[in-house]
Formats: sequence, C-alpha cells, structure tokens
Amino acid sequence: MEYVVAAAPQPSLPVAGTQARYPVRRVYCVGRNYLAHIREFGNDEKALPFFFAKAPDMIVESGTTVPYPPLTQNFQHEVELVAAIGKTGANIPAEKALDYVYGYAIGFDMTRRDLQQIAAKSGRPWDIGKSFDHAAPCGAIYPVAQVGHFTEGEIKLTVNGQVRQQSDVNLLIWDVAHIIHHLSQQVTLATGDLIYTGTPEGVGPVVSGDTIVGHIAKLGELTIHIA
Ligand code: MN
Repeated sequence: MEYVVAAAPQPSLPVAGTQARYPVRRVYCVGRNYLAHIREFGNDEKALPFFFAKAPDMIVESGTTVPYPPLTQNFQHEVELVAAIGKTGANIPAEKALDYVYGYAIGFDMTRRDLQQIAAKSGRPWDIGKSFDHAAPCGAIYPVAQVGHFTEGEIKLTVNGQVRQQSDVNLLIWDVAHIIHHLSQQVTLATGDLIYTGTPEGVGPVVSGDTIVGHIAKLGELTIHIA
C-alpha cells in the first residue's frame, strides 16, 4: 500500500508469557461502575452503563514517563480492570460474552478532571477531559488461558507508595459479561478492542514527579511516572 503521508504505527501491548503482542484497535471506557465512586461524585446510582472512547495511540506501556498534560490543573488517576477482546461480534448475549475476551490487564483511565467537569456541566462531549496524548496507560495483557476471568480480586493504586484506591473487582456494578453485552449493542466489537471497566472510589490528582503503580491480583503491576 502506498500512502500520501507516513502511516501511523499499529499500537500494541505486550502479552504475558509470549514475545507476540496484542494489536489495539479501539479503546472504550465504562463510566461510573463502582457504587462508592458514583457516590463520591453524587451521580445517578441506577443508570445503565455508558461508554466513552480514547484513541488507540493514547495507550502507553508500563514503565513509561508521561508528560503532565496541557490545559489542566487537576490531572487524576483512575485504576481499572481492562478486558481485551479476542473475537468479533455484535449483540452478544451476556451468557456468551466472556467467550469474546482474550485476556485482561490493568489500566489507568487518566483524566483531566477540571476539563471533564466543565464539559459535563456545559453538555459538551467529555473528550477534552478523557481523550488526550498518553491518556490510556495499560499493563501487559494476561490471556484468559493463564488467569481465567475476574469475578473477584483486589484492585489497588498507589501514588509514591501511598495507597489512594483500594477495592475489589467483585464490586463492579456491571460485570465484564454485561459490559460486553451492552457495548456490543452500540457497536460491533472486534479483536484488538480494549474495554476499561470503570474505577473504584479514591480517585485524585497527581503532579509532576509522581510515580503511580496499579495492582490487580494475577495481573502484575502497571507503573507510570509523571515527568
Ligand atoms: Mn474511568
């Protein structure tokens, strides 16, 4: 194929236990999926899951130093379980949904909170708060064949060694199967799609020089430094 400008490289993530990598196609995130996090912002506790997106090249790997992003005074961490899709499908029933998962990872849904809240208040899209360079750190993908599915397990985030978020993935309001069920009614899911499943309570700001470490049982660690 000949292109008129340089083609962007295919974003991808390492896969635990192999040299082969997981090619990223789309990045979806679930809003408000832990009750205690909904309550810390005073949002509707009974709403259906809703989704927003980041671009695949906003993925950054563990160990990366990312610049503090422009335009914000309130750059926040959100640690999340990430499901990596391994099979194409639409209108997937919840009972079959886990067959579509290739593996899992730890992700950070990094957020320019001040800009997100201004956008929300003005009825504008969230993109300025959620979708920007380096906004989607993601750890290595662990195949389901190695780690199984996640109905429970500690999820934790530390900043400079201090615990900021600590919960359990058994507190997800919409589990991975129901997230896939709902999202696949909205769009066709395909291999390479990542779904960030929502963050527990305890979100907060980071500043230049901070080191953020995420941990989910069986999924290793995700470490990001803020330049
Ligand atoms: Mn989030």
